[in-house]
Amino acid sequence: MASILVAGGAGYIGAHTCLDLFNKGFTPVVYDNLSNGHAEFAKWGPLEVGDIRDRGRLDEVLRKYRPLAIIHFAAAIEVGDSTKDPGFYYENNVAGTINLLRAAQAAGIDKIVFSSTCATYGIPTSIPIDEGHSQSPINPYGRSKLIVEQILRDLDLYQGFRSVILRYFNAAGADPEGRIGEWHSPETHAIPIAIETALGRRPYFQVLGTDYDTRDGSCVRDFVHVLDLAAAHTSAIAHLLNNGGSCALNLGSGHGTTVKELLATVQHVVGRDFEIKQGPRREGDSPALVADNALAERALGWSPRHDLQSIIVTAFNWHSNYLPI
Ligand code: UDP
Repeated sequence: MASILVAGGAGYIGAHTCLDLFNKGFTPVVYDNLSNGHAEFAKWGPLEVGDIRDRGRLDEVLRKYRPLAIIHFAAAIEVGDSTKDPGFYYENNVAGTINLLRAAQAAGIDKIVFSSTCATYGIPTSIPIDEGHSQSPINPYGRSKLIVEQILRDLDLYQGFRSVILRYFNAAGADPEGRIGEWHSPETHAIPIAIETALGRRPYFQVLGTDYDTRDGSCVRDFVHVLDLAAAHTSAIAHLLNNGGSCALNLGSGHGTTVKELLATVQHVVGRDFEIKQGPRREGDSPALVADNALAERALGWSPRHDLQSIIVTAFNWHSNYLPI
């Protein structure tokens, strides 16, 4: 069966993508240093423990499996954290990716699907955001991803190394069967924290910023189901294998939800109230991020199939029944 190297495949979006790849006939080879990933998430293909900064290990794994292409999730991903230790974000996300790209080229691989982010847009001047919107990230995390996007464009321009850059909005939800889901330690993301609060595992939810220029003062985000993201990666691989050209695509639902609206929806869907406190803004947060997702539909035939309710139901199922605590 055709192998795809999935760097960071033991993480949240990576593991859901491995499941989707497997269901569509590929063998996902997970390459992960397990710093944030979980060995038990590598269920649909072999797990090779390794770091993207380790060239020797990468060469060894690429020689062993001879994958047709790479999907690259391996990265540090927290906005707030990136403002505390930017050097680590550049070392891991930029230097590590250059190392992975050099190893791929040495192994004769010339196709990659790269996890980027709506954080590369910074503070949008118009909503919804399309891919032509200027990219001016406001935190080191977003800048680390934008630098890699620029590197990938040069590799395509000068060497024909093709890439599909996927700019995720807010990934959420879980496998409905509860085999995998969102599992970060510590957890910093809004939906899992709201669910943990609903489950009584946290005393309250703190809204980080209530004075933004939005309809209720809290940030607006576009939550997209991880199953939809996973399907987009498999489509992006098919696109590259069918000689499709390089592109950068937004992956979002196209709907904006404020943090306060999100909390009301979580309380309604799971049928439990919990305490909500107002807190200060979190450094590096953009006031509003909502995708125009039309280009992904045109390029990959992709459109989201799952709504916010389904995101919350599957995330609640994962957190209450399966997440090891
Ligand atoms: N957020 C919040 N309280 C929390 C965690 C997150 O108010 O305990 C807000 C955060 O400030 C942002 C939104 O929820 O406006 C989404 O944050 P998350 O970390 O989930 O994703 P990000 O947008 O940073 O990728």
